[in-house]
Amino acid sequence: MPRSLVRYLRGPYLLARRALVGGLIQRPRRRQLGIGPGPAPLFRTVFLELRTRCNARCAFCAAAVQSETRPDVTMPFEIYAKVIEDLVRLDYRGQIAYHVNNEPLMVPHLERYIEHARERLPRAWIRIYTNGLALSRAKGEALLRAGIDELTVNWYARDPDAPFPPHLLAFRDEVLPRFHSAARVHPGYGPPAPGDRSIFRFNLCHRNVDELLDSRAGSAPNKVCHPGDATGFCEHPFTQLNITVDGRVGRCCADVYFADVMGNVTRQGLLEIWTGGPFEQARRDLLRGDRSGSDLCRRCDFRGVTSQGAPARARAAEWILFRLDRLLRAPAEDPAARPAAPGHTPPAVGT
Ligand code: SF4
Repeated sequence: MPRSLVRYLRGPYLLARRALVGGLIQRPRRRQLGIGPGPAPLFRTVFLELRTRCNARCAFCAAAVQSETRPDVTMPFEIYAKVIEDLVRLDYRGQIAYHVNNEPLMVPHLERYIEHARERLPRAWIRIYTNGLALSRAKGEALLRAGIDELTVNWYARDPDAPFPPHLLAFRDEVLPRFHSAARVHPGYGPPAPGDRSIFRFNLCHRNVDELLDSRAGSAPNKVCHPGDATGFCEHPFTQLNITVDGRVGRCCADVYFADVMGNVTRQGLLEIWTGGPFEQARRDLLRGDRSGSDLCRRCDFRGVTSQGAPARARAAEWILFRLDRLLRAPAEDPAARPAAPGHTPPAVGT
C-alpha cells in the first residue's frame, strides 16, 4: 500500500480501533465468560508464583535474568497448603498453574507441591508452563508421576528453525510415552470441559527470545505503551487469581511486583479476596473500559482478552486487526514498533 495512503488512513483507523476491538473481540469473549455488571464468576485459573526467579533471558520480560530486581524468595509450603485448602472448600475444578512471572521448574521439589494439589483437588486441571531449560529426564518423570494434566514448553531462541535440544526431544519421545499413550496426548490448552481430565495436553513450541509482546503494565523492558494503545476492558481480573511467595494477590499476571495488592491469602480466604473491594473496583473500571484508575492498566497495551479458548469470531477479528495494526499503526520500516502477533500468551517466564 502506498505510504501516502497509509498516512491518510492511519488517523481514522486509530480512532476506530478501540471500538473495533471492543465490539469484535472483547464483547464475544465477555459473553463467553459470563462477564457482566453482576457478580464476577469464580476465577478460572489460580496462578501460584512459588519462587521469584527465572533462568531465561527473554528481552520482553522483567523477570528475565538480565532484568530481574526482585529478591529470590520461595513460598513456604504452609502458605501453599492454605491456598489448596481454600480451594478444597470451594470444590475447585478450574486450573492451577505454577507460573506468574517465574520459571516453575526452578522451584525446589516442585513435584511435592503438585502431589499435594493432586491429592486434595482431584478434579482440578494442573498445568506446567515452562521454558524447558531445566526439563531433565528425572524432573519430567517426577512431574508426570505427581499428576500434572498439561505441560507446555516454550523454547526461546533467536533462530526459529533451530531444532529442539536433545533433552526436550528425549522428554517428548521417551519419557512422556511411558506415562501417557499417544491417543491420550493432545496439543492445546486446558481441559476439554471443566473437570474432565481424560486427556493429557502437551505443547512444544518455538518462541523468539527477542519477541515484542505487550507492555506488561509498563514492566516489559522492550515495549512501552503509547497513548491510544490501551483498549479499555481487560478480562484478567475476572478470570485470574495470581498469588506470589508471601501470599499477596495481585491485580493480574502483568503486575510483576504485586504492587496493586488485592489481598493476602495468609490473612484472608480466597473467596473473600475475589469478591472484595479492590477486585470489585478494578472490575468496575474495566467494565467501563476505563484504564485510567490504575497505574498498571494505564501503562498496559494488552488487548484485553486472551486468544486461547476465545470464540472463533473473536479470533478471526483479532487476526484481521493484527494485520491492520501492522499496516496502519506501526510503520513497516520500524520492526521495533510492530505489535505482537495475536495468540501469544503473556510471558510466563508467560500467560
Ligand atoms: S489492562 Fe493490563 S494491567 Fe490492567 S488488568 Fe489487564 S493485564 Fe493487568
